[in-house]
Amino acid sequence: MIDFKGPYTLLINGVSRSAAGDLAVVNPATGDVFAHCPAAAGAELDAAVAAARAAFPTWKALGFAARADRIRQFAAVLRANQEPLAQLLTQEQGKPIGQARDEIGRAASQSEGLAQISIEPEVLQDDAERYIELQYFPLGVVGVITPWNAPINLAAGPLTGALYTGNCVVLKPSPYTPLCTLRIGELLRDIFPAGVVNVLAGGDALGGLMTAHPGIDKISFTGSVATGKKVMASAAGTLKRITLELGGNDAAIVLEDVDVKAVAAKLFFAATVNSGQVCMAIKRIYAHESIFEPLCEALAAEARKPVLGAGQDPATQLGPIQNRAQYERVRGLVEDTRRSGARVLAGSEQPDEKGYFVSPMVVAEPDEHGRLVVEEQFGPLIPVMKFTAVDDAIRRANDTRYGLCASVWSRDVARATAIAQQLEVGTAWVNQHRATSATVPFGGAKESGVGRVYSALGLKSNMEPRVISVLR
Ligand code: NAD
Repeated sequence: MIDFKGPYTLLINGVSRSAAGDLAVVNPATGDVFAHCPAAAGAELDAAVAAARAAFPTWKALGFAARADRIRQFAAVLRANQEPLAQLLTQEQGKPIGQARDEIGRAASQSEGLAQISIEPEVLQDDAERYIELQYFPLGVVGVITPWNAPINLAAGPLTGALYTGNCVVLKPSPYTPLCTLRIGELLRDIFPAGVVNVLAGGDALGGLMTAHPGIDKISFTGSVATGKKVMASAAGTLKRITLELGGNDAAIVLEDVDVKAVAAKLFFAATVNSGQVCMAIKRIYAHESIFEPLCEALAAEARKPVLGAGQDPATQLGPIQNRAQYERVRGLVEDTRRSGARVLAGSEQPDEKGYFVSPMVVAEPDEHGRLVVEEQFGPLIPVMKFTAVDDAIRRANDTRYGLCASVWSRDVARATAIAQQLEVGTAWVNQHRATSATVPFGGAKESGVGRVYSALGLKSNMEPRVISVLR
């Protein structure tokens, strides 16, 4: 039997600690508080940063191979604790238990994958006149700030990327989902030397203190566009390096030659997994006029299938929205859409339960300038729009301040690829959506982010380039 109640502790300088502050954590399937954990403030942050700075010279000197070894140990421990962590993740985040297990497994494999990438110096010139080499050295202390939709997976990438490249870390989860991250801190304590990793739960104000802290050299932030802008402004005070992984409003463009039923099932899953609370979920569908009605019908049929419920129940396919504020926002979008007179094909009836449940909603041809299409819904709501000329679909897909990902669906892969190349996004997929890996850069164009995570490109964002130039 897993004791969800705790106690939970912060990790500072290799020691598990409590704090004067307290966070109450709610199970979104019931709306009830089920646990409390310590909330750090300025004093705990100062202690964590000092510990990280003190640990940095030794950790940096250890070299990639020895650091990779620790990261592999971390991945192994994540796997060994997959079931209790998944149960806790479902309790605090809400997602179905199978998806929680996948999240832990994915965090382990992404961490291992990152620690296999080699970062070598690049020789830029080697002739009779000069030898010039480009090297990379670690920045120092990286502050990792994570959101509530996939707290483990979104911590693992930035955390292990920073550690592998020789940095020390202060990690702060969302106040809505701090518990798994604190448990992971306990696991990290036994693997990494004191001070190399510090884990602090806390509210939004703690994030603000981190972005302004003079002892932190870089912020790796995953969260909303609005907060990302605050992070960038605050980090400017100390010219911190930043990586911002922000929101999206991913379009899927569906051409006339697809197998409608098969594609509808894939689109529906990519739009509603984790109840749509995924940065790279499909949030707008543009369908060719010749398949528009059958695709809408097939999506509506998909929307009537999933079993809604608490994530702990193995029968559940769609869990609740993670927190009350987001639930009220999504329900507001549902009400707005209903009032607009748009054609609601599924989801017009919404559950009236104690938890934060929203039924999947499929809407045909809503106002394209309305909130449902323009905003990142972050809920299981799918607007479907019609196009005649593909150039028009591309223009409408690009007509947004977001630029995270998009996808094109067609039997004609060459044509779909040519369309993908015109999309203003960090990732454009063909006949798939949401496929990522440790070796492929991920991040947003436009207001969806700054920089990339994963791959050598992402790893190097935790390092400073240094040119060595020798006159011969
Ligand atoms: P959020 O921006 O509200 O919060 C994210 C984190 O920032 C939390 O830990 C929060 O405490 C902290 N924070 C809040 N105010 C801060 C401040 N002023 N300074 C520093 N930190 C602060 O985001 P959220 O609601 O938790 O997450 C949902 C958003 O995250 C969505 O927009 C989603 O698309 C985005 N997201 C992006 C990616 C990606 O990889 N691009 C992945 C997952 C989620």
